[in-house]
Amino acid sequence: MNLHEYQAKEQFAKYGVPVQTGRVANTAEAAYNIAREMAVPVVVKAQVLVGGRGKAGGIKLAQTPEEAREKASAILGMSIKGHIVHKVLVVPAANIAKEIYLSVTNDRAAGKPLLMASAEGGVEIEIVARDNPTAIIKQHIDPFLGLREYQARNVAAAMGLSREHWRAFAKIAMNLYASFVGSDAVLAEINPLVVTDANELLALDGKMIIDDNALFRQQALEAQRDVSDDPPEVIHARDAGLSYVKLDGNIGCMVNGAGLAMTTMDMTKLYGGEGYGPANFLDIGGGAQADKVAMALRIILNDPQVKSVLFNIFGGITRGDEVARGILQALGEVPTNVPLIVRLNGTNAEEGRRIIEAANLPNVRYASTLTQAAQLAVQAAKGEL
Ligand code: GDP
Ligand code: MN
Repeated sequence: MNLHEYQAKEQFAKYGVPVQTGRVANTAEAAYNIAREMAVPVVVKAQVLVGGRGKAGGIKLAQTPEEAREKASAILGMSIKGHIVHKVLVVPAANIAKEIYLSVTNDRAAGKPLLMASAEGGVEIEIVARDNPTAIIKQHIDPFLGLREYQARNVAAAMGLSREHWRAFAKIAMNLYASFVGSDAVLAEINPLVVTDANELLALDGKMIIDDNALFRQQALEAQRDVSDDPPEVIHARDAGLSYVKLDGNIGCMVNGAGLAMTTMDMTKLYGGEGYGPANFLDIGGGAQADKVAMALRIILNDPQVKSVLFNIFGGITRGDEVARGILQALGEVPTNVPLIVRLNGTNAEEGRRIIEAANLPNVRYASTLTQAAQLAVQAAKGEL
């Protein structure tokens, strides 16, 4: 789960990271009032769950409250990479002497958290990683020892930060790590962490991604989830307990099990070639009850790009005949003309096949192997079936 900038900064502040505090407004008038109370030049910042807001025109400096109203009115409602801006953060403008990048994430290969810092802050870290990889300083963190001060100081030295800032930098890095651990985050990022013209360190931006698997014990964070940024199908899928990720292909995939879902996506891409591939990742989980299948089918078919749907179900404890009945029941609830390819394997697969074929639905085809199913789904998507 992604946090907004203002939420991530609140979290950072709780752990002692100095942040540029501000207030959130959802109307231009409210932004005007906040700027008037602050009585200093402010920055009006779009609160959307994507990066690169500055470049997209979602971050604007305003010298006066009137200007803050004007900027807020331009930013509210604008679309940044497909995300509509519903809220802006109004903060006192900082005078920047230097922009630094600082983050904590997990390094899966090393099995440890990783602190990353760069003197080339402010720009996207992916671009620094591509064009100037040695400018990124990395320090692994032993999860049992935590980030030690000497490690943070080593990072400060390696990135060429002047010695007077080492103590403050180390403290911020250690507090950021504490917020990362305490929030069950998979990413805690400050870009930029600035040195102001008054020689103070301050987090100007904040990004945090919370581990979805830890939300059960992060209920205060879960309660802050902003669903207005989620497309309706994502909200429906989450409510139904389905793992759903929309992709930009045209073959809908309905699969039980995450690994099988990945394989199914690979196979549709393999046979789809240029221009044809998976429209989504979807794991309907175990059981494959009819109501869950029906909800998943609704979500998949709601995507206008979907030209065919591939059901790839492995019957383990769930029997293939039950799954087949579930699929037919779901099709009864969600009638469609979109070609559907069904592949069942595992327990009672043959019986499942007979049930599907006996239903004699004109747009439903049965496939025995995944290869055949993927090929049929591609042909159907191309209108060649
Ligand atoms: P992002 O584009 O989504 O990463 O949003 P940021 O919050 O990082 O802002 C983008 C850029 O706007 C920063 O890198 C700064 O250069 C600039 N910026 C943001 N806040 C301030 C501020 O208070 N003062 C000044 N001078 N620049 C700012
Ligand atoms: Mn930023």
